[in-house]
Amino acid sequence: MKTVKEAQTIILEHVSPLKAENVPIESSLGRILAEDVSSNRNHPPYDMSAMDGYAVRHVDIKDATKASPAILSIVDDIRAGVEPICAIKDNEASRIMTGAAVPEGADTVVRVEDTDYDGTKVKIFVPASKGTDIRRLGENLRAGDHVLSRGIDIGAAQLGILAMVKKAAVPVHRKPKIAIISTGDELEGLTEKFNERKIPDANSYTAMAQALSAGAEPVLLGIARDSKEALREKLLEGLEYDGLIVSGGVSVGHHDFVRPTLSELGIDMLFWRVAMRPGHPFAFGLHGKTPVFALPGNPVSSMVCFEEFITPAIRKMTGAASVFRKTIKARLTEDVSDKRGRVHFMRVVLEYTPDGYSARLTGSQGSAILMSMTAAHGLLVMPAHSEILKKDSIATVQLLNYSSGPSGFQHESDIPEEEA
Ligand code: AMP
Ligand code: MG
Repeated sequence: MKTVKEAQTIILEHVSPLKAENVPIESSLGRILAEDVSSNRNHPPYDMSAMDGYAVRHVDIKDATKASPAILSIVDDIRAGVEPICAIKDNEASRIMTGAAVPEGADTVVRVEDTDYDGTKVKIFVPASKGTDIRRLGENLRAGDHVLSRGIDIGAAQLGILAMVKKAAVPVHRKPKIAIISTGDELEGLTEKFNERKIPDANSYTAMAQALSAGAEPVLLGIARDSKEALREKLLEGLEYDGLIVSGGVSVGHHDFVRPTLSELGIDMLFWRVAMRPGHPFAFGLHGKTPVFALPGNPVSSMVCFEEFITPAIRKMTGAASVFRKTIKARLTEDVSDKRGRVHFMRVVLEYTPDGYSARLTGSQGSAILMSMTAAHGLLVMPAHSEILKKDSIATVQLLNYSSGPSGFQHESDIPEEEA
């Protein structure tokens, strides 16, 4: 039996990033950048006004007040996208719009609200400090500088930077195509006739969703019934992909055929069990270089094992530099105990309080209670050696990126009502 850490290490040693490909920038959101990117330009390309106002020389306005304004002659009217026609000299100013180039000689911009313009001269009422409201050449991007690292997740801001450096085609790693198989005579497929005595197949869909969130392209192969032949046929189909996930039938029950069938197919199984709750019958093997994961049948166990082992594997295959779920520290709102001596991943609801996060259990932690996962913001990690975590003690929680979680959405806006 492996520890969770050992199992993760073995898996990550045996999977590698897939080849890079170029995708149109419009399709690159959520992908992993495959090459370092540097800037091909300066941005801003020149010192630029941050406001609509007047470009001035600081020496001319440094003593300006409402009662005794600086009075300057207007020599130019500079819009964004138009070059200044002249430099600013003593007691001169140019009207300037946001995004326009600051003319030579000017070192400060005074916003229009602090001025009065009569058509030829402008009165400046404030002694704006030197450099005010000027965006400096290259303060966002510098030509030649490294701007994005390979292995990052491409989000909206990164995508904007890729556009700024004109990467219309973005190098990303190919998404792994991952085959997903459920097993069990008791299972009812989603499109099969409703039978109250059957167990609806949830694992194909939780695995599909988790594979998608990890960056893979899942392929649902459906349900294999509990016979060696049926299983063998599906597994062979699944081995055509970049990875294969099979759930259920992985323990040592009389009708659990996953183990013997994987062995008969010549798949080199690196381990069969992990010391954890829920889900210790989790297995990993290789068919050539293709990773094969066997998840436990119980839906919660299946989801938890997916998060601990398959998500990091998929992330590595997509070229991601960070592969593990982020953890936070949270204060427990109740005693939590488990005397079985294995790492226990417990579903918790997180709340952000003035003292940091608090965590409370979602309720019953039964491994078949998938409903408890719908409320979970994270997995409380109870170490193998601890039998009890006391109320108010600080524990580690792995964040799940489900939309109700700490970085998800809320019903009401917290932005205060204010006068415009
Ligand atoms: P097994 O590992 O095959 O013994 O399954 C353990 C438990 O998980 C049993 O109660 C199964 O009915 C249930 N189970 C197995 N596969 C699925 C699935 N795909 N969806 C929902 N429940 C499942
Ligand atoms: Mg079964």
